[in-house]
Amino acid sequence: MIGDGMGINQVYAAMSTQTSPMHIERFDVIGMVKTYSANEYTTDSGAAGTALACGVKTNNGMIGLAADSIAQPSIMHIAHKNGLATGLVVTCNVTHATPASFVAHQVSRKMTEDIAADYLLSGIDVFIGGGRNDFEQRTDNINLAKQLKDKGYSLCYSLAEIEAVKAGKIAGLLADNHLPKAKERGGVLYKATAKALDLLNQNATGFFLMIEGSQIDWAGHDNDLDYLLDEVRDFDKTIGLVLDFAKKDGNTLVIVTADHETGGLVLNDGDLKAGQVKASFTSLEHTGMPVPVFAYGPGANSFGGFMENTSFFRKCVDLWQFNIR
Ligand code: MG
Ligand code: ZN
Repeated sequence: MIGDGMGINQVYAAMSTQTSPMHIERFDVIGMVKTYSANEYTTDSGAAGTALACGVKTNNGMIGLAADSIAQPSIMHIAHKNGLATGLVVTCNVTHATPASFVAHQVSRKMTEDIAADYLLSGIDVFIGGGRNDFEQRTDNINLAKQLKDKGYSLCYSLAEIEAVKAGKIAGLLADNHLPKAKERGGVLYKATAKALDLLNQNATGFFLMIEGSQIDWAGHDNDLDYLLDEVRDFDKTIGLVLDFAKKDGNTLVIVTADHETGGLVLNDGDLKAGQVKASFTSLEHTGMPVPVFAYGPGANSFGGFMENTSFFRKCVDLWQFNIR
């Protein structure tokens, strides 16, 4: 689970302004992650997503490629090759940098139509988010909807359509572009994640699911604290769902982290009784601050201490004992 732009202060701002504990407080293993990219102290979501997904430092803006432009298999791809079901649920376009890093290989995150085409090669079972235009309103006039259907996906354009699917693969394209803000989304991240867990868990070998709170980053760029808190809480609610699933299942590792911090958020003061924070943003961009990682379940202890964002890939390969050939 990736909170895009979710540094520790984004988490604590939400914690400080609600009376009930957050689900993220249920983790007992916490570590810190270095986020720098191959060419910048401050990463973008393409390089950071590629580091998390593929285990290599790459240049800002690149997707699923090492800095020398050689394509790298993602942990999702390797899970698929090892017989697991795979999926992702996001609140941005599915062709946006973070989800793209798990399924695509492109020199630039801006090549969103090429990233859409890469979904057809990825073997992914469930993907849900926005980005319908990159599949169906393309400059090459190819409509990928037919190809998705030919590959056995239930093509869904609404949450109701997603919730009606009982088995098999889902291509969930819930908006032409990205999804609305948390306030106007009606809990779609939570509900789509519940469906993804239900479908992927039907694979007896197991599953790998990436869930992104995509718009925490956008709120940070906007320096909009209310938007930020709504997005962190929306993501945290979904963390609660996933933790409940993992607790019941007993054999599921849950990892929550961020790709980088956004906005240089500082909590200068606050009032816990009143549920208020005095917050200042010090940047309109990403920062180089380390980000937290929270882990629960078998193998969680591998995620304590200070680590590189590239280390997740190898840790996951080792924990699942994946064959990477
Ligand atoms: Mg993102
Ligand atoms: Zn950003």
